[in-house]
Amino acid sequence: MKTSLQSRREFIKLSSIAAAAAPLLGASMLRAQSAASAPGRKIGFAVCGLGNLSTHQIAPALQKTQFCQLTGIVTGHPAKADQWKAQYNISDKNVYNYDNMEDMANNPDIDVVYVVTPNGLHAEHTIKAARAGKHVLSEKPMEATVEKCQQMIDECHKAGKQLAIGYRLHFEPTNLECIRLGREKVFGDLKMIEAGFGGHQGNPNVWRFDKKLAGGGPLMDMGIYALQSTRYLSGEEPTEVSGITTVTDPEWFKEIEESIVWDMKFPSGLIARCASTYKFSGMARFKVYADNGWYELNPAFGYGGIHGTRSDGQPIEFPQIDQFAAEMDDFAQCILENRPTRVPGEEGLRDVKIMLAIYESARTGKIVKV
Ligand code: NAD
Repeated sequence: MKTSLQSRREFIKLSSIAAAAAPLLGASMLRAQSAASAPGRKIGFAVCGLGNLSTHQIAPALQKTQFCQLTGIVTGHPAKADQWKAQYNISDKNVYNYDNMEDMANNPDIDVVYVVTPNGLHAEHTIKAARAGKHVLSEKPMEATVEKCQQMIDECHKAGKQLAIGYRLHFEPTNLECIRLGREKVFGDLKMIEAGFGGHQGNPNVWRFDKKLAGGGPLMDMGIYALQSTRYLSGEEPTEVSGITTVTDPEWFKEIEESIVWDMKFPSGLIARCASTYKFSGMARFKVYADNGWYELNPAFGYGGIHGTRSDGQPIEFPQIDQFAAEMDDFAQCILENRPTRVPGEEGLRDVKIMLAIYESARTGKIVKV
């Protein structure tokens, strides 16, 4: 398992890459071109779970990638399989269901399985893919429990395959610039971060309201972005957390929290105050307060429209990119060049550990050490 020091080093590496995000794009283009000109082929992706995210973001993004191609699908719905086969020219032999994923072992068209099923099924599908000898990109949150996250890491390790978590903002230039501002202490030492991400959920009859499949409520689904931001902005790991949850609509929120606020303390003395909700929309931001000023992204976490402001009036402006295409191209290049992903399973596991500590605090009313 990686130590927080290692993870800090990764972030420092990341920030040096992010020293200016426009060159970052240029550098990644260059790397892209050299890998593309290397003998070889594009990395074949099979999308596992053809729901909203796969349909509206991942499949369209795959069409924009340089190093990936959509070669396969895993679905329990024959009608969806027919639609995807026709739309994306996927051959019959590359269509799987959740029960025959092991047959992928004999299919060289598929290098990566992108797991986009409900959170509490990520381990099951990751393990099947790893045992079939495939690399895995799993959506966030990594899983519902620490044990299942560890199993995912262990199985991919045993198979000699890479495991990445779908943390798309690690590839987004505006967020990367805010990492640079912190690492280079442009405004001095960071003192406090406020971060929140939530949204009104319009239908309680979906897996997101089922604790077993979701692992938790808005914290696991959207609050994870606020938590992630405090970690990548500071490069530090929280040492203690406290949380408060609320439910004002017990008819809808029988198993999960409706809204949550939580505080965290970091080794340098930095503190963070965060929030998430399924009850209302409009919260999607972070703000970083440092010794000599502040900077914020509002909104910070969406697929586009990310907007930054600095206390000194200088702009935070970078091109809006397709974050899913960037995330998948990076993973493909990691595989092609045999180098580790910057968003490994260990990173997903750390978030799950912290979120479960926040829930424990909310349940017990006590501060929990992480
Ligand atoms: P969704 O409900 O739209 O899709 C889930 C898919 O899983 C469906 O195709 C469904 O048929 C399939 N599935 C398989 N077994 C199932 C079962 N037992 N119960 C319910 N569905 C089952 O969900 P989504 O919004 O596409 O989210 C999928 C994953 O992607 C989640 O882990 C979520 O957290 C993540 N996600 C990430 C982002 C992001 O920005 N990275 C955005 C949205 C969702």
